[in-house]
Amino acid sequence: MEMWYTEEQTQNVRFSIRCDKQKYSAQSEFQRIEIFSTPEFGDVLVLDDRIMLTTKDSFIYHEMITHVPMATNPGIKNVLVIGAGDGGTVKELTRYKTIENIDMVDIDRMVIDACKEYLPSVASKLSDPRVHVHIDDGLRFVRGVENKYDLIIVDSTDPIGPGEGLFTTEFYGNCFKALNDTGILVNQHESPYYKTYSRAMRQAHRKIVEFFPICKVYQAHIPTYPSGHWLFGFASKKYHPVHDLDEGAWNRLGIDTEYYNTRLHKGCFALPTYVTKQLMEGEYHNN
Ligand code: SAM
Repeated sequence: MEMWYTEEQTQNVRFSIRCDKQKYSAQSEFQRIEIFSTPEFGDVLVLDDRIMLTTKDSFIYHEMITHVPMATNPGIKNVLVIGAGDGGTVKELTRYKTIENIDMVDIDRMVIDACKEYLPSVASKLSDPRVHVHIDDGLRFVRGVENKYDLIIVDSTDPIGPGEGLFTTEFYGNCFKALNDTGILVNQHESPYYKTYSRAMRQAHRKIVEFFPICKVYQAHIPTYPSGHWLFGFASKKYHPVHDLDEGAWNRLGIDTEYYNTRLHKGCFALPTYVTKQLMEGEYHNN
């Protein structure tokens, strides 16, 4: 009998992947966690009926959420990662010898444990000695932190369920405070294409521009996310992601990537007109 995983991306759109088998399934205190193996996309992590990653296309998401800020400020040493329990973002960060400390805060220990066991290629660097895993709500963790981090990466679920607090004005304000004078905040910024996702994207942008002098949005093509067109927010106190990019410095590091490169870095901030219009509704600062 054929087995398919089907995600309802909107009320009118479904996305299906043929599966070989379900490798893991459990209900945690926060969410339903499932891992499937599939012939086309490798292993697939699903939380609350939403695809979080596949081992075939996760390199796109993890490289783009990491290397864009790291190439903008190669001096980043102290990083806070919120969410990201699969370990993929941390894995990309550990490729920088210059990073001294990575605090990773995920609300759900069961996601981390499942990924370590069933997605070891993604989670392998969670044991790097520079990585400190905290099991906590990211919203609570950043309250009271001041002037500490060079970079905060928000690699969260969507703004429903446990991830909701990570899309609030309170959270973005606390991230601003938790960053030092040159700090950068990068967040997964949803998609501009389907209505519910674009609403979340516009709301997030509107809240972030209240705090940061430089707010940009960049894009990537991620085949298994709704519409395949995904955005990331780049908010910064000092560095402009394109004007301050030193391409030569990043290329001299010799980091071997599959998606990110410094030409793409400059190009990914050039957004389609309909996306720019949506962001301008949220006071888009096109400086
Ligand atoms: N790349 C993914 C995406 O955009 O679909 C996100 C993947 S990552 C697995 C998301 C993680 O965020 C999950 O492990 C989840 O437990 C964690 N998370 C959700 N809400 C959180 C919160 N309030 N604080 C910390 N972590 C949270």
